[in-house]
Amino acid sequence: MALKYCQGPECHTYYTQDRLKGQKGNKTYQTRRRSSLNYGEFCDTRCEHAWLSKYATQAVNHFGRLKEVKHLIEQNAWQKTYDWDSNHDMIYVYRNGITKEQRPLTESQYNDTNYTLNER
Ligand SMILES: [Zn+2]
Repeated sequence: MALKYCQGPECHTYYTQDRLKGQKGNKTYQTRRRSSLNYGEFCDTRCEHAWLSKYATQAVNHFGRLKEVKHLIEQNAWQKTYDWDSNHDMIYVYRNGITKEQRPLTESQYNDTNYTLNER
């Protein structure tokens, strides 16, 4: 399996034993590589943050900058959650974050990622 390289721009500059590789007298600190990286393209949150610090503005400009306030409206404010009934049994509910209206939900509806009351 091909190893993935951590995309952290400073990964090779962090002094950890696992980054120090090579023969005695010829050792170097190296970018981490793994069969799978724990943080997407990065080995850890420090490398993830270093990449964001360096490239976030370029990435936002490339993929599209938000130029106006977004609104979560009543029709899309339904969130699946659970509650407890008077017998202290857990019940699944849909709760609207704006109106606070609550509607019953079956367990299978709760677990169905395609089931929603929100308008698309
Ligand atoms: Zn890294």
